Amino acid sequence: MSLLEAAPAPLALPQATPQATPLATPLDDARSQLRAAIGVLGYSDGLHSLLATPRREMTVAVPLRRDDGTTRLFTGYRVQHNLSRGPAKGGLRYSPNVTLDEVRALAMWMTWKCALLDVPYGGAKGGVTIDPRLFSQPELERVTRRYTSEILPIIGPEKDIPAPDMGTDERTMAWIMDTYSVNVGYTVPGIVTGKPISLGGSHGRASATSRGVTHMAIAALKHRGIRPEGATAAVQGFGKVGHDAAVFLTDAGVRVVAVSDQYGAVYNAAGLDFERLSAHVATTGRVVGFAGAEPIDGDALLELPVDLLVPAAVEGVLHEGNAARVTARVIVEGANGPTSPAADAIFAANGQLVVPDILANAGGVIVSYFEWVQGNQAYWWNAAEVEHKLAERMLAAWHQVVDYAAARDLSLRAAATVLAVERVAEAHLLRGLYP
Ligand code: NAD
Repeated sequence: MSLLEAAPAPLALPQATPQATPLATPLDDARSQLRAAIGVLGYSDGLHSLLATPRREMTVAVPLRRDDGTTRLFTGYRVQHNLSRGPAKGGLRYSPNVTLDEVRALAMWMTWKCALLDVPYGGAKGGVTIDPRLFSQPELERVTRRYTSEILPIIGPEKDIPAPDMGTDERTMAWIMDTYSVNVGYTVPGIVTGKPISLGGSHGRASATSRGVTHMAIAALKHRGIRPEGATAAVQGFGKVGHDAAVFLTDAGVRVVAVSDQYGAVYNAAGLDFERLSAHVATTGRVVGFAGAEPIDGDALLELPVDLLVPAAVEGVLHEGNAARVTARVIVEGANGPTSPAADAIFAANGQLVVPDILANAGGVIVSYFEWVQGNQAYWWNAAEVEHKLAERMLAAWHQVVDYAAARDLSLRAAATVLAVERVAEAHLLRGLYP
């Protein structure tokens, strides 16, 4: 009998509890998904609480001296959800909407993602309550350096390794690496992933999440008997994940008819021209106003009659209030937590396939792991090698989740979460409880 089978009696909570949309937060959704997985696995209340609770949390004040000499104060967070399988790993988000509970949810999802893709990390996430669009580069540099020095005691290449997320990029990672390195007295490239290539970053890291999303979208369309060539798609969010996903999907023959950002959406039934749209966004900072498409409402994008919907922006956009109007047959979660448990239940009832975030957008953490492996060996792979290894891992995980779901009559999300939670629990039980 394995350690896990020996665990005490099952909780009587086999199903995710749909949450009323206006009240449900990402943390409610993450906890609800975990509760459903625990119900399937039959773990004890004690193990459930341990898996549901972050191992370590830090809240810090981040004061900024602005370019005009005034001072602004932001709040920063770093949450390490679980460390049983290795150092914590997770992105850093700059957004005015960041809350401790949101960071807790994102950290928990990172734990499951790393376990599902079998990269040797636990889960973490960080955030600062700043809207990066409203601040200059020197101001963002000062915020990043101050935040980094405040959380310095709990991060490190063997402790917790940040990466880019919403509102941050490879420039941010370079500032974190420099601040950390200056403080410890020598250069530590392994403190972050998603670094610029000239600082030890990996080829293919910047586009890895979008490549992974595309692999999953193509696999899911085929799984549903839809030929990718000529299938139609809408992508919500036109940032690091959404932009490249739209381009890669187009390269794969999918007709991407609509994309959006936080200012609005654009639609062209013949498919969008991304070279021209990217040039427009580079000049104006938003998709709306693009001459090669008509403007549509941002929320309406989610309800377009397309084969594939890729939410690649923020959490909670597919909920009880709109899920019944979403007609896409395949939904691939580029964003973390875009679908509430109530929406999941509606999609399942309507036969729509949801590829969950912890699988669909795992390409970023896979290539972050590759970046770490390459850095440790001081031997860098070329872009083709990175892409090949990424595809291999993503597709292996896809087949594993699809087979597990089919064998146990679970949704892909439930199957992925159960597989991941079981791996984390096994690591925890094998290590034992200290003291
Ligand atoms: P980003 O900051 O580069 O881009 C975010 C995009 O979403 C922007 O175009 C923004 O305008 C848009 N947006 C924000 N709110 C919106 C709204 N309400 N409706 C429509 N669009 C909106 O961020 P990103 O790195 O692309 O991250 C997007 C999502 O993907 C997040 O959920 C993030 O956690 C997740 N993710 C990112 C990575 C990564 O490697 N960057 C990896 C895994 C998951």
